[in-house]
Amino acid sequence: MAARILDGISISGQIKAELKTEVAQLGQQGVRPGLAAVLVGENPASQVYVRSKIRTCEQLGIFSEMITPPASTSTEELLAIIDELNRREDIDGILVQLPLPGQIDSKRILMAIDPAKDVDGFHPMNVGLLSAMRPNLVPCTPAGCMEILSRSGIEVAGQDAVVVGRSDIVGKPVAMLLTNANATVTICHSRTRDLARVCQRADILIAAIGKPAMITPEMVNADATVIDVGINRIDSLEQFRTIFAGDAEREKQFSEKGSVLVGDVHPKVAEVCRAITPVPGGIGPMTIAMLMANTVKAAKMRRVSRVSSLDPPCDGLDGLA
Ligand code: NDP
Repeated sequence: MAARILDGISISGQIKAELKTEVAQLGQQGVRPGLAAVLVGENPASQVYVRSKIRTCEQLGIFSEMITPPASTSTEELLAIIDELNRREDIDGILVQLPLPGQIDSKRILMAIDPAKDVDGFHPMNVGLLSAMRPNLVPCTPAGCMEILSRSGIEVAGQDAVVVGRSDIVGKPVAMLLTNANATVTICHSRTRDLARVCQRADILIAAIGKPAMITPEMVNADATVIDVGINRIDSLEQFRTIFAGDAEREKQFSEKGSVLVGDVHPKVAEVCRAITPVPGGIGPMTIAMLMANTVKAAKMRRVSRVSSLDPPCDGLDGLA
């Protein structure tokens, strides 16, 4: 039986609609959340990602600014840009699009972002808070995985979750979020012995590997929910044929565009598991929605809570009563 498709486009649409209302309410309090996206150089894929983030800000009424220093920018010059954004009152979220050119020390840049404005959730302080079960700003893709599970009514507590991939951006934080949500979590990587056997016991299987169609039907059990984080572009006809043989719709796409996207999970897994996120249209749109949610959250934490803490008498009196 075909799996239930967990539709990231429709679920992210609901989240964005809720955020739009929230942004409008914040506007009535004189607060307009603001996101600065820093894009160094002219990497075409990064340009597409950043433009789509800026467009989503516009749809929701979030102020956005794109800063585009040249590819030759030094670490010191980029640190100066971050420093200025850290100081700006109207900027609640700072996003530095990765990867950065080789001469830039990415770790120094990510650590220079004010943790209160770290909407990507990569600053060591936010990583530590997540690990201490006091999540502040949580990385967007892992947060998107959790949100699609929760909004699809898929139980996490007590389930066996297997995460394939241990990157700082996806694998590790999603494993932490699953642990915090009371799943029993196994993290796999390139040195894992008998990956297929480990994956087979997953009730929830998260694939964040960066290898096209690597998770095959034999690796997945019939009751599993599969979250496919991978985004891989296939432009070789030979590779296309091995993965998508017999899929008329994808064949049409491939002949028109010369490439198609595939996740880390083989498309045939959708014929054997209980539920699955598609690629495209699964975790990709959820990631952007969670970036918007983080920007709104950062604005509330920085500005709304400050407004209320400037107004302590009621709290104080309530406390005495
Ligand atoms: P990384 O390359 O940083 O990490 C890949 C992980 O997969 C590593 O931990 C690696 O293990 C593991 N791995 C590689 N080969 C194997 C193997 N044969 N068996 C088991 N594990 C293996 O990738 P990211 O985490 O950054 O991204 C993963 C995927 O998710 C990519 O396709 C990326 O494009 C996509 N992505 C999608 C996003 C979205 O918005 N949907 C956002 C971010 C990423 P080891 O540590 O041992 O090397």
